[in-house]
Amino acid sequence: MKLELDAPNVGELEKEYLNKTIDSGFISTFGPNVPRFEEIFADYVDAKMAVSTQTGTAALHVALHELGIGEGDEVIVPALTFIATVNPVVYVGAQPVFVDVDIETWNIDPYKIEESITKKTRAILPVHLYGNPCTMGSIMDIAKKYNLYVIEDTTESLGATYNGQHTGTFGDLGCFSFNGNKTITTGSGGMITGNNNQRMDHIKFLVNQARDSDRGYFHPEIGFNYRMTNISASMGLAQMERLDGLLERKKRLHAVYKEELGGVDHISFQKEYDGAESSWWFTCVTLKEKIDVDALQARLKEKGIPVRRVFMPLVEFPPYKKCRLREYGNSYKIYERGLCLPSSTLNTTEDIRNACRRIIESLKEQQ
Ligand SMILES: *Cc1c(COP(=O)(O)O)cnc(C)c1O
Repeated sequence: MKLELDAPNVGELEKEYLNKTIDSGFISTFGPNVPRFEEIFADYVDAKMAVSTQTGTAALHVALHELGIGEGDEVIVPALTFIATVNPVVYVGAQPVFVDVDIETWNIDPYKIEESITKKTRAILPVHLYGNPCTMGSIMDIAKKYNLYVIEDTTESLGATYNGQHTGTFGDLGCFSFNGNKTITTGSGGMITGNNNQRMDHIKFLVNQARDSDRGYFHPEIGFNYRMTNISASMGLAQMERLDGLLERKKRLHAVYKEELGGVDHISFQKEYDGAESSWWFTCVTLKEKIDVDALQARLKEKGIPVRRVFMPLVEFPPYKKCRLREYGNSYKIYERGLCLPSSTLNTTEDIRNACRRIIESLKEQQ
């Protein structure tokens, strides 16, 4: 079978729910699926409330806005992540402060967080990169000590836990994504989770143009139109029913990679902190210095194995070059040596075993 890098796993159940929703006439933002999806999602991660949005980026934007972060504030972010973690910090007018990641877990380094705190710091925005939980105990301790907000970027880590607790429930708010390549998808979508009901009610109001429903079309604040549609939510409901199976498959694929490649001299895997259980959204590795990663990627492509380079450190991009105020040695090393392996749940374990054989073959050809 054809190997898939990150193709979505949608099928009969999604079709059934989508058809029912279209037949019901509730195809826009009004309808029963949205509150149902939010409720089931909050139950799943064990948060008090969840509010759906149109994208993960929108979730992060409204989360920062809700906490009053803006002009003159600094937000601590990892240097190694997807750009959508950090753009919303700029949307609200705040300053991102990039911090290097840990070389083994690829997540923001708590020691370096503490070094980067200034009088202007208002929040920490940790990312559970590729599904791998950050060391949330240390991050929450720092946040308490300096009285900072924590917004978790959980866009890649649905199903991941730290000491048995779901990512997205440690900080003040958690922001999930249901983009097409994420663990579950609604085509495009997002979710904010939190345990402060009053704050969550206010977020629900903000994403609906800050409309005061008791007063018709009255808007006491400037809000956003970030609502999820009832159509997207129907897909979300189907995907939630299948979530345990999808996570099981991710875990199994990761285990097969470990079995087949764990002993290969040139390869090391992204590691979990003690107490962390990754959702393995992606299985990622780094390769030893003497391997040319670009050449390997090209060779693998010829052999029908789609792989992707690890995110480029954000301080490489023109809008963020001026934010390069520290050392980002680990982020660069992971970017330069890293590779994301086919991790779609459409792949079978046999596909992955075959891929591993071809990866080993390609490594030998390079020496
Ligand atoms: C996917 C992703 C986002 C954004 O989610 P969208 O739904 O695509 O807007 C943000 N941060 C990270 C780390 C992501 O991987």
